[in-house]
Amino acid sequence: MELLQHWLWYQGHFLGIEWHVWKVVGWTGNLAFTARFLVQWYATERRREVVVPVAFWWLSITGSWLLLAYAVVHKRDSVFIFANLFNWIPYLRNLIIQRRHERTHRECPSCSRTNPPQARFCMNCGSPAAPVSGS
Ligand SMILES: [Zn+2]
Repeated sequence: MELLQHWLWYQGHFLGIEWHVWKVVGWTGNLAFTARFLVQWYATERRREVVVPVAFWWLSITGSWLLLAYAVVHKRDSVFIFANLFNWIPYLRNLIIQRRHERTHRECPSCSRTNPPQARFCMNCGSPAAPVSGS
């Protein structure tokens, strides 16, 4: 217990870190970036197939923007800035593509399950698919 307390409150600081606003920004970015791996791993284990959930991309973009802000404003370190300067672009692009993909899916009028656009029958209850609106 004393060892844990010593580790948590090291040299008068929580985790031995001298906390200020930019440390909170940087560590929040680190936590978001790390959490994305846990989210992806959990989703994959749950489905028993490789899955990249949308939350992975949201955590990725959140983490990279927070780390970029930390690098630019607080650290002003060119290596750290460059490491986070462009990686958010594919994360944002994946979120845009996912959003467009979801919009093409149709909800079953019987059971409300979302089905892919090419489905002629609901994949859950077998009801005929709703006609595509606007066609
Ligand atoms: Zn249905």
